[in-house]
Amino acid sequence: TMEFTDRVSRVEPSATLAISALATELEADGADIVDLSVGEPDFPTPENIVEAGKDAMDAGHTGYTTSAGILELREAIADKLADDGLDHGPENVIVTPGAKQALYEVVQVLVQDGDEVVLLDPAWVSYEAMVKMAGGELTRVDLSDTDFQLEPALDDLAAAVSDETELLVVNSPSNPTGAVYSDAALEGVRDLAVEHDVTVISDEIYKEITYGVEPTSLGTLEGMADRTVTVNGFSKAYSMTGWRLGYFAGPESLVDQAGKLHSHSVSSAVNFVQHAGLEALETDDAVTEMVAAFEDRRDLVVDLLAEHDVDVAVPEGAFYMMLPVDDDDQAWCEGAIEDAHVATVPGSAFGTPGYARISYAASEDRLEEGIERLAAEGYL
Ligand code: PLP
Repeated sequence: TMEFTDRVSRVEPSATLAISALATELEADGADIVDLSVGEPDFPTPENIVEAGKDAMDAGHTGYTTSAGILELREAIADKLADDGLDHGPENVIVTPGAKQALYEVVQVLVQDGDEVVLLDPAWVSYEAMVKMAGGELTRVDLSDTDFQLEPALDDLAAAVSDETELLVVNSPSNPTGAVYSDAALEGVRDLAVEHDVTVISDEIYKEITYGVEPTSLGTLEGMADRTVTVNGFSKAYSMTGWRLGYFAGPESLVDQAGKLHSHSVSSAVNFVQHAGLEALETDDAVTEMVAAFEDRRDLVVDLLAEHDVDVAVPEGAFYMMLPVDDDDQAWCEGAIEDAHVATVPGSAFGTPGYARISYAASEDRLEEGIERLAAEGYL
């Protein structure tokens, strides 16, 4: 019989899988499921980007590339990061098959057995798994009492961060809450990171999807340039989830170490996809349109929930919100899908029981239908 490693045995299959399995089963039986559990935009990839990918394939960009990614793309990413106020050259950037791989590599090079990593809860599901696979120990700071905002919870963060802390992960705008952290909150993070010599991952994958706020990149704060790893990607802003394209940027020493892992595992991101990424970084109008649609849907869902006397922390970015539900959120989500045929993700998957994550990356019709059904079945 095969024996499996501790590193993989420590990790649980994602709790979201139980919900999608249930949804698939009900759909196979002919049920019409309103799926508010998905973590991807419901728009097609903008046409100019698709064309650029096809053209690159036709032009023969089908071989291996430099492991870190083609120079033109790393230069374009460095320019994009410069627009965000971050000072990186192409040599500070590694292009990855998705931001998830970027995060995986960064965690692998920074975290080893027993290292302490601080997460802000609710936190995206894969951070925990990545840290555990690396052998790290988690300290979690709960933001559910502060409407998922960090600024009023800085004392709790200060209590969690110590000289033992190796790494802190910040994700603003946040999946699953849609919260965008204030500058004062980020300055609080900076003060703690500097005081305790902590490296910070700033996962900015939803940075381009915000509603009337302009999130600050953590690495722009004084004292943060050489302790911040900025992660971003193309999946969300350009509706390119299946293309698998992301990147991270950080100090050269980190990029050197991660580059080894990168070259020995994925080799590089897909060649013609990198060329499509170049086109994506030139794309503005399609992004503006998608963000406007998400904002309308956010307003719609917040209003519909208010009609049912349900108050939510209004998200300022991404396309998720946390719906307060029963303490047993797993049971609530299973019931909601079985009775109302509405799929959501239990908050406990993100470390925060008592909530369900709603994704509003769905048409207004489907969102209305979903809320109506939840109300009709007594779930609101
Ligand atoms: N980070 C966060 C917070 C996410 O929500 C996601 C996707 O769901 C990712 C990273 C990874 O995105 P991708 O690997 O598609 O670039």
